[in-house]
Amino acid sequence: MTVHPARIRRASLLSVGELDRARVLDTLVNNLDGMAYRCRHDETWRMIFVSQGCQSLTGYGPSALVQNAVISWEDITHPLDRSRVRAQIDEAVHNGQRFTVEYRITTQAGVIKWVHERGIAVHDEQGELVIEGFIEDITAQREMVQAQKEAELRYRNIFEHASEGIFQTTPEGRYLAANPALARLYGYPSPAALMSGLDDIGRQLYVKSSQRERFRQLMDQHGEVLNFESEVYRADGTRLWISENAHIVRDADGRVLYYEGTVQDISERRRHQEELERQANHDMLTGLPNRILLADRVEQAIARADRLGYYLAVVFIDLDNFKFINDSLGHGAGDELLKAIATRLQHCVRGTDTVARLGGDEFVLLLSDHFRASTVISQLKRVLAEIGQPVMLSGREFHVGASLGVAMYPADGDNSDALLKHADTAMYAAKNSGRNTFQFFTRELNRVADERLNIEAALRHAIERDALEVHYQPKVDHRRRVVGVEALARWVHPEYGLISPDRFIPIAEETGLIMPLTTAVLRRAFSAARAWNQLSPTPLRIAVNLSARLFLGGDIVAHVAGLLQEAQLSPGLVEIEITETVFMGDSEQVVGTLRDFKDLGVQLAMDDFGTGYSSLSYLRRFPLDIIKIDRSLVTGIEHEEEVAMIARAVISLGQSLRKTVVAEGVENPAQFDFLRFQGCHEFQGYLLSRPLREHEITALLRAGGVLAAPTPRPSSGFAPLG
Ligand code: C2E
Ligand code: MG
Ligand code: MG
Repeated sequence: MTVHPARIRRASLLSVGELDRARVLDTLVNNLDGMAYRCRHDETWRMIFVSQGCQSLTGYGPSALVQNAVISWEDITHPLDRSRVRAQIDEAVHNGQRFTVEYRITTQAGVIKWVHERGIAVHDEQGELVIEGFIEDITAQREMVQAQKEAELRYRNIFEHASEGIFQTTPEGRYLAANPALARLYGYPSPAALMSGLDDIGRQLYVKSSQRERFRQLMDQHGEVLNFESEVYRADGTRLWISENAHIVRDADGRVLYYEGTVQDISERRRHQEELERQANHDMLTGLPNRILLADRVEQAIARADRLGYYLAVVFIDLDNFKFINDSLGHGAGDELLKAIATRLQHCVRGTDTVARLGGDEFVLLLSDHFRASTVISQLKRVLAEIGQPVMLSGREFHVGASLGVAMYPADGDNSDALLKHADTAMYAAKNSGRNTFQFFTRELNRVADERLNIEAALRHAIERDALEVHYQPKVDHRRRVVGVEALARWVHPEYGLISPDRFIPIAEETGLIMPLTTAVLRRAFSAARAWNQLSPTPLRIAVNLSARLFLGGDIVAHVAGLLQEAQLSPGLVEIEITETVFMGDSEQVVGTLRDFKDLGVQLAMDDFGTGYSSLSYLRRFPLDIIKIDRSLVTGIEHEEEVAMIARAVISLGQSLRKTVVAEGVENPAQFDFLRFQGCHEFQGYLLSRPLREHEITALLRAGGVLAAPTPRPSSGFAPLG
């Protein structure tokens, strides 16, 4: 509010008429908060009139200033501001304009104050140029503005340098402000680029477009959002996870002005969290769901099967020979194998199915949406075929089989635990029925599983008490003269009766009983062989079976040598029968062990030849003396041309490699004649003799050692159990 005494004078003349002009003027002017003045336009701003406000403004009374009685206004003006003030006023006067100027003054008490001066040059009653104006104290105001400015600067600093993104947006999703951190976060070169590049947050920013809607709803409901997590796009299309805290800013009337908030990059935390969740629910090696997630999936699949009226198959898979590969080639190769199998299994299933790994070599398939058991069977066949494909490990090709056990919902259980348990039981049955096959769960299998546990305990007990027996199956030459015997372990369980070695040897292998078992068998066999060889002048060879497990650790050669020594038996009379599994181990080490056996003086026989995969290559690489053609190649030899062809080929191969060829499982004269005619060297089988007890062999040898038909009856009444 500018007050010009001249104007006031004129106005008062018009409105108040006969009132004392000087008194009105005095009252008005002197009651103003500030100082009205009239001064000369000279070097000291010599005052002609100064209102009462002068006192509180400067500390000097009007009389001290008028005519520079005590001090001039130029002196009161702060030295640093004098020239600026003068220049401004001079210019305004020159242009005939009003002026406003802000500057400092020094009061009588020495205090520095900021003042605001407005004025104009006018001609006084005498026509002389004077300046009339008004000066007020703006120190407090200035300090406030200054404080505000500083506060603003502080906030701006926070805004500019915050590590969190800060934004203001319209509720519709347009940016009003964004700080550099936000621009960086979203991948824009500057806040300005962000604001112009992102003009529809809802559609451009959030990966899930419904996110913005949720954000707005929360804002409407609560006026704020806290830790609102979303996945968003950066400018380059890559994604990140953010957490937003925001609130509504309203005007005095409560109308929404804008949203304001902060954004934090939580991608790292999310990744960590997801990783933890993944770890909790997945197998680290293969990335497949683990036991926890599987249980969940089974329950879901049960619900689905109920809804759709389908079957659900839970398939327990255990790799055959995995332990062997893992122990012999090392865990690296074992891991490779498991990963390869995991991938193959995933190829065998449909989108609604699950492949899980429970640990070790145990996998589980969850097959849904089958409405016939037959379709499950074809899928299982595919699984077996896939697993059976060769795998390259440590630069060599391997064939791995698997045993599958199947439990079906609803028949075999109505919850995850029951189904898994029963599938596991069925898997054991598959393993026992020859491996690389599948079995469905039945109540009978359940009983068998319980039985197995009992057998384990009983076997341990039997070995400890040396209660295992050894029977001997003769081997004859083409004239049916007994040239050797094979030692075969026999066990009579107190409750289950005779148990087949095909059944208890694998249990012994799994439970670590194979070494004591083998020791017991070898002790008996060696001492029997020594006795027989003292009996007759023609040497009788003794063949013993060594489990592939025994080739893994410890020095099996030294152990056998020790037992030979103990029995005083010549190594030349001993044949060691090994199966192809031995060759799956580290070949250097295996070759070494076999050489050591050769050095010891024993002979090496390849058992069950023709059942494995790459037998031919083994024959060349390993120092073997004898090939035992498996029973499966002998059965049917007399009437199936294909079998006959293979047998012929094997025999001639053995001959050309200068190996002794032995035929196993010769059951009838036709087979015997065929094999003999093909040039097979030795024969073993029920046609000639079943496995016999030690004293029966003794009697046989005493009688001349020739096995003429008919076959002697087995004294033990043993028939292999399935
Ligand atoms: P293998 O070494 O191939 O032994 C031959 C198996 O065929 C024996 O079964 C024998 O009884 C059977 N067999 C012999 N001739 C005939 C025949 O004409 N027809 C039929 N159907 N079968 C015949 P067994 O005694 O049940 O032994 C099974 C397997 O258990 C053996 O196969 C061998 O691998 C293993 N085994 C037996 N004793 C031992 C042992 O002390 N240590 C180890 N590691 N394995 C053993
Ligand atoms: Mg054998
Ligand atoms: Mg055999």
